[in-house]
Amino acid sequence: MGQGSLGAAFAAARQLLCQSRSIVLTTHIHPDGDGIGSALALWHYLRQQGKDVRIILHSSVPAPLRFLPGAEEIEQWKVAEHKAIVGTADVIVVVDTSELSRLGALAQSVANSPARKVVIDHHLSPQPFADVYVIDPTACATGELVWRFLRFLGGPYRQREIGIALYTAIMTDTGSFAYSNTSAAAHRTVAELVELGVDIPTVHDHVFHSWSLARMRLLGEVLAGMELYHGGRVCLLVVPREAFLRTGAVEEDIEGFAQYTLSVEGVQIGLLVVELPMEGGIKVSFRSRAGISVHELAAEFGGGGHEHAAGARISNGELPEVCQRLVERAAAYLRP
Ligand code: 5GP
Ligand code: MN
Repeated sequence: MGQGSLGAAFAAARQLLCQSRSIVLTTHIHPDGDGIGSALALWHYLRQQGKDVRIILHSSVPAPLRFLPGAEEIEQWKVAEHKAIVGTADVIVVVDTSELSRLGALAQSVANSPARKVVIDHHLSPQPFADVYVIDPTACATGELVWRFLRFLGGPYRQREIGIALYTAIMTDTGSFAYSNTSAAAHRTVAELVELGVDIPTVHDHVFHSWSLARMRLLGEVLAGMELYHGGRVCLLVVPREAFLRTGAVEEDIEGFAQYTLSVEGVQIGLLVVELPMEGGIKVSFRSRAGISVHELAAEFGGGGHEHAAGARISNGELPEVCQRLVERAAAYLRP
C-alpha cells in the first residue's frame, strides 16, 4: 500500500474513532509483543481522549508481557460478559492480524457486530471484513504503524506508557532489531520511542529473561531433538504434547522457540511444530533466511504471515505425519 492510500486510511480511521464513544481493541490468538503492545498504545491514547475503550482478547496476556503499563486492564474473552460489549461497540479495532479466524473466540462476535471495524496490520493478504484497512506490509511491526497513526492523530501521544508499549512491539517483531524487517524507519521510530523514557534493559529483562525453569527444560529437550533434512537446508524442531507434561511447561512457553530453527549454518527453512496441550491441534511456525519465502508454504497448510516468518494451525493429522508432510513440501521452496 502506497503512502497516499495509507494517508487516506489514516483519515478514514480517524473519522470513525472521532465519531465513536465505545471502542473495543483486539488482536490475534497467542498474542505477541506486537499485538499486545499495539493494542495497549492505542488504549492509552484513546482513553485520554475520553473514549470508553477496552481491550478484549481470546487469550490471556503472556507472563513476559504483563509488565507493560495497562496490561492488567486487558480482558480475556468471556462470552457472558463480552459478547454484548462487542455487539454494542461503536468501533472495533483489530491490530496485528487481518484475518477474522485469528481472533479465536471473538471472531464470530466481531463478524456479527454492527460496529464499524478498523484493521491496523502489517501482514500480507488481508481478508475482507472491515470498513477501514490501515495496512503496510513494509512496516516492521504493527507497532510502527500505530506510532505513525498516533502522530497523524496528534494530541498527547508522546507518553512514556505508549513508548514502552510500542518499543516492545517493534523490539519483539524485529527479533531485537535483527530480522530483515528491521528498516531504517524502524530504528528512527524506536529512537523517538526511547526518548519518551523507555528503560531498554528493563524491557529486555521482562521479555527475554523472565522464563520459568520448566520452559528452559522444555527448550533443552526440544533443541536436543533438532533434526535436519534435505542436505541440512530444512531444520525441524518438534514439541510433542508429552514434553509439556514432562517438564511442566505451558503453551505460551514456546514463544521464541522458532528462532532456533535458523540457528544452524546452511538451514534455509526452519519448522517448529507444536502439539498444543490445552487448545488441541498443531501449531506450526515457519522461518526462512533471505531469498527464501515461507509465506506460500504456510498458506499450503492453511496459514499465512510474512515472507520470512509465517504460521499455521493444523487441526487434523497426527504429529509424525504432519511433520513428514511439512518437510516434504518445504523442499519445493529451497535453493540448490
Ligand atoms: P509465529 O510463528 O511466531 O507464531 O508467527 C509468525 C508469523 O506468522 C506472525 O506474523 C503471525 O501473525 C503469523 N501466523 C502465525 N500463526 C498463524 C496462523 O495460524 N495463520 C496465519 N494466517 N498466520 C499466522
Ligand atoms: Mn506483528
